[in-house]
Amino acid sequence: MKKMKIEKAEKLGLCFGVRRAIKLLKEAANKYGEIETLGPVAHNRQLVETLANLGIKPINRLDQVQSKILAITTHGTSPAILSKIKARHIQIIDTTCPIVRKAQNTAKKLAESGFDVVIFGEAEHSEVKGLLGWTGDKGIAALDMKQIYSSGKSPSRLGIISQTTQTQSAFIEFVRQLIGVVGPNIDEMRLVNTLCKITQGQQEAAIRLSRSSQLMIVIGGSNSANARHLVEICSPLVETHLVETADEVDTSWLVGKHHIGITAGASTPDESVEELIAKLRSL
Ligand code: SF4
Repeated sequence: MKKMKIEKAEKLGLCFGVRRAIKLLKEAANKYGEIETLGPVAHNRQLVETLANLGIKPINRLDQVQSKILAITTHGTSPAILSKIKARHIQIIDTTCPIVRKAQNTAKKLAESGFDVVIFGEAEHSEVKGLLGWTGDKGIAALDMKQIYSSGKSPSRLGIISQTTQTQSAFIEFVRQLIGVVGPNIDEMRLVNTLCKITQGQQEAAIRLSRSSQLMIVIGGSNSANARHLVEICSPLVETHLVETADEVDTSWLVGKHHIGITAGASTPDESVEELIAKLRSL
């Protein structure tokens, strides 16, 4: 019988933005005791639970805040929410990822320079909600042309940016379609690449591994945008499954396979990846 090879993607798992946020939050919890975060630190249940045990607890809405210290997550937030927090004299620990911050500054500058801003992304995602806030009332979030049509906007100057964790290929396709739809009526169009290069690197490594593996397992939160995107880009190349924990591995996936690739979303803790590898070795 052939020995099973389990191979990790060259780049995977916890990104620098989430590692930085965890460090800042742990330092704050050591200093102040319990703190709250506006929304989960990252879209990963295991990580949120681990931090909750250290006194770092998520709340969903600002009116639920109880402590005097509130952390903004890696996804960032809007200036309106920041003002509301300040008005309540709550101290802010801001862990917005510097890459998201750069996208926020781009959104703000475009809007201030008179551009309407299209954000390629999921309107309900916390990062996108924050980005929209930085455009004032000049932004719309869309994943397809239907959403552009239904916005009813017909701008003469258009700025285009992306949610940081979208895939490069999807962003390019979106821009291509957008130019086809609105291009002829536009005086000026400015495209700024706000994609996260760390996410891109992980996606490219996942694609390379998918080409040589017989099965890909992505470990990450089912509500994590970048874990889902890893599944999307690997699936056309090889059988791919998303699991949140090692326990979710179905042994039937492994039948007849001797080369299994593993990748992980940017908010997946290192321990979850190691547990997955240990589980696969045990099977
Ligand atoms: S995935 Fe990229 S943008 Fe998002 S937190 Fe990590 S480093 Fe920052």
